[in-house]
Amino acid sequence: MSNKTINLTDEVYDYMLSISLKETDSLRQCREETAKHIMANMQIAPEQGQFFQLLVKMLNVKNAIEIGVFTGYSSLAVAAALPDDGKLIACDVSTEYTDLAKPFWKQAGVAGKIDLRIAPAIETLKQLASDGLQGKFDFAFVDAHKPEYINYYELLLPLIRTGGVIAIDNVLWNGEVANPENHNEETVAIRVFNEHIYKDERITMSMLPMADGITLILKN
Ligand code: CA
Repeated sequence: MSNKTINLTDEVYDYMLSISLKETDSLRQCREETAKHIMANMQIAPEQGQFFQLLVKMLNVKNAIEIGVFTGYSSLAVAAALPDDGKLIACDVSTEYTDLAKPFWKQAGVAGKIDLRIAPAIETLKQLASDGLQGKFDFAFVDAHKPEYINYYELLLPLIRTGGVIAIDNVLWNGEVANPENHNEETVAIRVFNEHIYKDERITMSMLPMADGITLILKN
């Protein structure tokens, strides 16, 4: 036994999913369809979708923002956990990817809760601020262009209520953040972002080694 996070072998991972993952047909079909896509590794892990559903319920989330939709798995998971009058503002630049998401949102009966904004997320976040929505959001998930992470975060934080949560994806970047030889743009951006969050006194944070690393940020 160890107090260090367990190393997930394939066998342990399969066991974990077999005894904990509760995936609806729509989510499973969305995941299986996405798996055929050349960029399939951009989709979140299924246990991560389920974890977000738990967070949405724990936080009584009514209004959420997602930055980076891809083929809609995480949007579907979050929207399904929202109350009937909940709303998810889903930001992405690609209609090619988000068009793949729409049939699954419809099938799951959550399309009406998802407000898809096709534009650079920075613009959408600025629009939400100029709409006077500061402090109106309970939850946000960030999983888009890594070099923009600090900009997304700084624009998101004022929109989140006190006690609301921002989840950030890929903070361990397949372990490359800990490889000093790796200086590529995205790796460096994630390292800089992680340092930025670590020093931020406005928030309470925890970095989870789930999937590709998720930082949870609670607005104080
Ligand atoms: Ca991701």
